[in-house]
Amino acid sequence: MNFNKKIALFPGSFDPITLGHSHIIKRALKLFDSIIIAIGNNFKKKYMFSLKKRKYWIEKTFYLNSKIKIESYKELTISFCKKKKIKFILRGLRNFKDFEFEKNIFFSNQLLTNNKIETIFLLSYPNKSYISSAIVREIIKKKGNYSLFVPQVVKL
Ligand code: ADP
Repeated sequence: MNFNKKIALFPGSFDPITLGHSHIIKRALKLFDSIIIAIGNNFKKKYMFSLKKRKYWIEKTFYLNSKIKIESYKELTISFCKKKKIKFILRGLRNFKDFEFEKNIFFSNQLLTNNKIETIFLLSYPNKSYISSAIVREIIKKKGNYSLFVPQVVKL
């Protein structure tokens, strides 16, 4: 591993990946040499889509992009960062609710890592800030046109 390279971890459930996620990732590629998309797989959480499917859609979305890597993890995000020697976490902010939630995680992470891991927040563009995986899952469940909110490769 090249320690001079700037690598960010973008953690999330991606259940499923949305145009909101992909926009944040594309913008962050201008800031980092490489981005590891880290799919959380918590056995206590109920996902709509299997890890295999969530991973497959992300792989297809960023097909042939050598700056993107995809991993899954079960532990705390900061523990996974330490294991991978990653110093930056990337998060997207849509609104004040995201901000309040992320702020608490940020301060907790600073304490737990002795300020060794920095979190970089990108504000969502207005035309992406209303998109969430939860809304997409609801549209899918009720047979709506989910394709307006997700990368083209996401097909049921
Ligand atoms: P989690 O399960 O932790 O909520 P998500 O898969 O929902 O994870 O999201 C992962 C990251 O992507 C989070 O930082 C979240 O704020 C960000 N994100 C999700 N949707 C959007 C969006 N529409 N615009 C910008 N950021 C987003």
